[in-house]
Amino acid sequence: MTSAEIGIIGCAVAGLSAALGVAKAGHRAVIFGHPHHDLAGALQLAPNGFAALETLDCLTEMTPHLTRLNAIEIRSARTNACLSIIDHDAPQRRDYAAIGRGALVTQLYKLAQAHDLIRFCDDSVASITATEQETSLITTADETHHFDLIIGADGQNGIARAFVGSANNTQLITRQALRACLPATDLPQNFSANRTQLWLGDGYHLVSYPYHDPHADRHMINLVLCTDKSLKEPSKIAASLLSTKPVLAPLCDADIAWHAAALPPANQLSSWRRHGVVLIGDAAHFMPPHLAQGAGQTLEDAAQLALALKDAEDIREAARKWAIARQQSLRPIIEKAEATGTIMRLKGPLALIRNAAVEFGGQRLVEKWLSRVWQ
Ligand SMILES: Cc1cc2nc3c(=O)[nH]c(=O)nc-3n(C[C@H](O)[C@H](O)[C@H](O)COP(=O)(O)OP(=O)(O)OC[C@H]3O[C@@H](n4cnc5c(N)ncnc54)[C@H](O)[C@@H]3O)c2cc1C
Repeated sequence: MTSAEIGIIGCAVAGLSAALGVAKAGHRAVIFGHPHHDLAGALQLAPNGFAALETLDCLTEMTPHLTRLNAIEIRSARTNACLSIIDHDAPQRRDYAAIGRGALVTQLYKLAQAHDLIRFCDDSVASITATEQETSLITTADETHHFDLIIGADGQNGIARAFVGSANNTQLITRQALRACLPATDLPQNFSANRTQLWLGDGYHLVSYPYHDPHADRHMINLVLCTDKSLKEPSKIAASLLSTKPVLAPLCDADIAWHAAALPPANQLSSWRRHGVVLIGDAAHFMPPHLAQGAGQTLEDAAQLALALKDAEDIREAARKWAIARQQSLRPIIEKAEATGTIMRLKGPLALIRNAAVEFGGQRLVEKWLSRVWQ
């Protein structure tokens, strides 16, 4: 097998994990773009994310930065009654944890830096040229680089996604996630419990879980509030939804800075590949965050890529087959993430029926909904 040289656009979770996958397969990678080590907030990693980190030989370095979560507790936002608990310790122990976004990028970056097959170019990519004969990119410093393959890991609005597919981004975006993270000491003790707490409301839902911020060396609480209320004045939206709920009212403190991120509906490309360019991570499969799977599936992309490119004589053909297989296995997960959002956004009597169904179905119902996702 001859070692190929692969250009990777984007230096976040997708780009760094893709580089580790490429290097594990014995090929050389050049990553374009800046790493951001100071990203605020956190994300949850489910068993499939753990398995991918292990395949990429990252789990040992990542483990000290993970905050293990023992369960997902689903509550009614109206009454605070517990509707169901998904216990990650029973019947058997399941890996489930939170990690700071900055910590995840920093650890992946350190591992990539230590690898002799991975190089970095700080410049961003200005354009891509890919035909049957040529696969190249031009950086913002006006330098041209030729590669055997380019991996677009530049997120849902990057140039790689625009190059590969004409995604229809003209839909009116009415949904948003309000995010906040604050020291655990600023909130009542119940927010610090080592579990994901999900409050189902009337047309909205709130997720909270603790994580450790290594930069500030303190315990933090990550909050995500999903709603279809307007993007303006996130703090007022949070107050209007939560102020009458005794357990959630502390989240309406005027000092809490909520940041809004628009949540476009899942918009699946017909193909993740065009000539010598393939997409990975959010560039390939942006999905709403309701299953907490975007980064986990991105790590899985990279782990599967490592297996697909190993011993490959024809790198483009191997990447083509990988993209087709990943796209097929991701489709039902993206659809499930959308469906989960629809269920979580139910209002009025339908919200009450949903809560009754979650309570009646209990752990078994919710586990069944999630088990294929976490495999
Ligand atoms: C509210 C919310 C909560 C979430 N919670 C979870 C969770 O709990 N668990 C989970 O697994 N996932 C979660 N996700 C999803 C997760 O955050 C994303 O799937 C993941 O971060 C995607 O990483 P990425 O590297 O593909 O994209 P990005 O993080 O968007 O990175 C793309 C990178 O490419 C760079 N770039 C762009 N253009 C160029 C260019 N031209 N040249 C060079 N570089 C470029 C950017 O600067 C950026 O660094 C959540 C998402 C949201 C919105």
